[in-house]
Amino acid sequence: MRFKLPSLKAVRFPMAAVLEVMTLGGAILFGMTGCNSLGRSPEGERQARLERSPQWQSGKFVNRYERVDGSRFSLLKDLLFGNAAPTRPTDTLPVQTRRRSDFDSAPGLRTTWLGHSTLIVEIEGQRLLIDPVWGERASPVSFAGPERWYPSPLPFDELPEIDAVLISHDHYDHLDYPTVLKLIPRGARWIVPLGVGAHLEAWGVPAAQIVELDWWGSTELSGLTITATPARHFSGRGLRQDQTLWCGFALTGVQRRVYYSGDTALFDDLATIGERLGPFDLTMIEVGAYDRRWTDVHLGPEQAVRAHQLVKGNILLPVHWGLFSLGFHGWTEPMERVLAAAKEHDISVAVLRPGESLSPPELPMQDRWWPEVPWLSGKVDPIHSSGVEHLMH
Ligand SMILES: [Zn+2]
Ligand SMILES: [Zn+2]
Repeated sequence: MRFKLPSLKAVRFPMAAVLEVMTLGGAILFGMTGCNSLGRSPEGERQARLERSPQWQSGKFVNRYERVDGSRFSLLKDLLFGNAAPTRPTDTLPVQTRRRSDFDSAPGLRTTWLGHSTLIVEIEGQRLLIDPVWGERASPVSFAGPERWYPSPLPFDELPEIDAVLISHDHYDHLDYPTVLKLIPRGARWIVPLGVGAHLEAWGVPAAQIVELDWWGSTELSGLTITATPARHFSGRGLRQDQTLWCGFALTGVQRRVYYSGDTALFDDLATIGERLGPFDLTMIEVGAYDRRWTDVHLGPEQAVRAHQLVKGNILLPVHWGLFSLGFHGWTEPMERVLAAAKEHDISVAVLRPGESLSPPELPMQDRWWPEVPWLSGKVDPIHSSGVEHLMH
């Protein structure tokens, strides 16, 4: 067995640790003193509305499937000793810097990936910003937690006009407090799952600009329908978990359709999303931050490819990787494994550099812009969500 001596450098911040240590430690340290970034729990009318949701049971939002987690002892071991694969890049990445004028033209469909799950989707005249993170860290505090590997490819001041901001759930790597504060003066609409409006209002977003949706709920934006789709995940940025809902989004226009998974594990509703709202020109599906100990909150690469098939996608744009270290897996592993699985199933994958745009059905050059570093295959380290074996056949 190979062990490294623990060092400060070896102390990593994987997703489970981020969400558990930070939500617990962060809340204990800062919640009592009123740290704004933690947000606020829903109350009053908002709370009454979310309690009427079919997703609300026994005081919290629930998934259709039970969540089975692996051993926390092994997590502690990995936290201290790490693993063989590098979880973050050592060299400068070929980030494509963008500016406002790049968005002057208005294509029928164009998506720009700004790293992790931050996306600008331009579809049929509307420009949407998804899970925007310009902050330095996916964390409630500015001095600790996973830090970004590079500045945003699009400096915030270069962000073009936005019609609506979509938030999939309230985890720190999707709902970024400093970014929300910067976006408020822009006056855009916010489309979020049930309960997340409480955070936004606490931070100063006017209530009239917030649309809160339950799963399958939808809202219109000049002819574009935005539907909150079910996801198999969890939520929370303070002591209490699952007080706000998590979701993905389907954007359905007259001619173009795209799907964004949010954070999710594999589950049956993906097929229902495909039946009701697909087929999709483009899917943006989470591929990173997986682990064999938390297979019921993230897909992992092979299941992401399967999810793309279930929702009836044409081109797959892998997201939720390439900006923060939120797992123990090698930082290039999500893409290496997605490309292998996609090849096996003959699926078109869009390989984008951070900052690059994609206009389906055109595919960009399949440029492997990352280095060759060690990674584990799906056979060696399989990620299978529990209870859904039938979906993998
Ligand atoms: Zn999450
Ligand atoms: Zn996430």
